[in-house]
Amino acid sequence: MESSLDPKRTVAELQELRALTADENGAQRVAFTQTWAKAREWLHGKIDNLPGIEIHDDEAGNFWATLGGNSDKALLIGGHIDSVPNGGWLDGCLNTLAGVAVLRRIHGQHKGRPPVTVRLVDWADEEGARFGKSLFGSSACSGKIDMNETRNLKDKDGIRLVDAVKEYGIDFEKVRDSGKELKDAAAYLELHIEQGPVLLDLDLPLGTVLGTFGVERHAITFRGQAAHSGSTPMNRRRDAFLAAAKMSLEIYRIAERSRGGVCTIGSCTTKPGIVTSVVEECRITLDQRHLDAGALARMLSEAKTASEKFAAEGHVDLAWERIWRIEPILFNNQLIDLCDEAISEAGAKPHRMPSGPLHDAAEIARAGIPTVMMFVQSLGGISHNKIENTKEEHLEMAVTAFDKLADKAIRWIAR
Ligand SMILES: [Zn+2]
Repeated sequence: MESSLDPKRTVAELQELRALTADENGAQRVAFTQTWAKAREWLHGKIDNLPGIEIHDDEAGNFWATLGGNSDKALLIGGHIDSVPNGGWLDGCLNTLAGVAVLRRIHGQHKGRPPVTVRLVDWADEEGARFGKSLFGSSACSGKIDMNETRNLKDKDGIRLVDAVKEYGIDFEKVRDSGKELKDAAAYLELHIEQGPVLLDLDLPLGTVLGTFGVERHAITFRGQAAHSGSTPMNRRRDAFLAAAKMSLEIYRIAERSRGGVCTIGSCTTKPGIVTSVVEECRITLDQRHLDAGALARMLSEAKTASEKFAAEGHVDLAWERIWRIEPILFNNQLIDLCDEAISEAGAKPHRMPSGPLHDAAEIARAGIPTVMMFVQSLGGISHNKIENTKEEHLEMAVTAFDKLADKAIRWIAR
């Protein structure tokens, strides 16, 4: 029985998983496929040699491994072994396998009976790669899943999500029953690769995540008049593209003023869209993100004001349409402090940062469970790609720091 942490073994297991489930294009562990099921079975085999650990899948297909403690109050450690198609070797499965390492250490140190219950959860379909709906298992568990929207999802071959999950023993109408798993949850921890360049640019291995960005996503349509590109003098034009183009510069100023927010115009379509006509209609999409709800609201209102100004200047009409929004989700202050301490004790300089992408941790925090995430540096800041990578020494340090965080969280819960 292992009583001490073995971070090198985690790196070796990540490599083993890659060999089992990746091809020359990268990881192929898309949820609700045979390769994903094979990865799950492999994960099962990594844990079931530990005596006294109970393993089951819940109603939403989330995998739970539970080590009962002296208290029913539970520390949850989460990850996702599913990947995008042609994905990297770390996104999601690092968290799951670091969780396995921590579970082994706790099992050994406390002779199979820790002070509080410790549970590893491998969430089902975090990526949403097949059906376009991410955080499937964790949003079912948190109860926030949109049942009507999800019920109608189909993959590119026309297979319905409800039918695909049935093959893995999931009755879609019952997925929210998985919420009972959170009954005694007292804290939730997740280790993840950063998937961005911030820690790399700071030359830091690890970061403490403060929460996930709130998002405002809108379509903005400017409408002017199509007119001949030769016969229409410049001062007589109602050019919808000109107004939209001014937005492109303005969002950089808005983001700069927001201190920490980001804005993206990700799409621009023009009508009639021919080389010989002034643009009659220009539709752009705007994605704005910030960790602070007030700052996000300010960013949105500044974008609206700017669009009205540019529309008036160009004598074009303006329409806004909300595509999607989510509020910022903040992690627990005490766990954030413990995460900083754990990073220091592992020999790194702590650094606090927001998460741009959503993660399962956001769903669990939304459900009211005290939550924190730890990030480890991504080389090149690249993810969802087979070139995704992190230095082995940083992976090992991450497992060590994450284990210290788990230890601190157990004592925090037991108090
Ligand atoms: Zn992930």
